[in-house]
Amino acid sequence: MGDLVLDSNANARWLQRLAGALSEKADYLTELDAAIGDADHGINMDRGFRAVRERVLVQAQGREPAAVWKQVGMTLLSTVGGAGGPLYGTLFLRMAQAADGTSSLDLRALRDALAGGLEGVRQRGKAEPGDKTMVDALLPAVEALDRALAAGEDPARAIAQAAEAAEAGARATIPLKALKGRASYLGHRSIGHQDPGATSSAILLRTLADTLAGP
Ligand code: ADP
Ligand code: MG
Repeated sequence: MGDLVLDSNANARWLQRLAGALSEKADYLTELDAAIGDADHGINMDRGFRAVRERVLVQAQGREPAAVWKQVGMTLLSTVGGAGGPLYGTLFLRMAQAADGTSSLDLRALRDALAGGLEGVRQRGKAEPGDKTMVDALLPAVEALDRALAAGEDPARAIAQAAEAAEAGARATIPLKALKGRASYLGHRSIGHQDPGATSSAILLRTLADTLAGP
């Protein structure tokens, strides 16, 4: 432990990769939202992360992750409407709070940042695990990091396990009935569809794992 996992450079590369993946998968995320929402989740995330690219990532080099995350959060809050924007804005703002003053995060610090972000999402959205929301991808990821830390797992492997847990969590939303957000208006008709926000959260973890797996 104590191995540095995420420094300024890796953070900038992660956010670039995340912005790219969200743009590439915008149509897919919007299709998922068309089934149980209002068909805008991919559009929302892509719009938000385009703004992040233009306003934040152009000057992210050399700045500590928390400072950049704070700007990412504020940018998402100001550019993305609906539920997803404020929730992702809160995720990054609370990650920033948890990591404040740390120029390079080790696995424990990265876990604490994600756990802080998740806590913020839960406070803001009031979703419980199993409500078919992004919490259902983020919580298993944090739990996987807890297990990896307890087992003394190699950091890159730990993050890969967190990404797998998030993806499994997103898939596991398919049989669930939505109890929060727009999809909850559908009641039992939300069953049988993967939650868009859980899917974008899994993309967030996957791009982080890919970034830390090597160049
Ligand atoms: P909107 O629902 O306003 O159109 P988006 O389509 O961008 O916003 O985002 C929808 C996603 O937001 C859902 O798939 C779900 O994962 C997430 N979400 C909605 N409400 C909540 C909530 N109360 N708590 C956590 N996540 C939520
Ligand atoms: Mg929507």
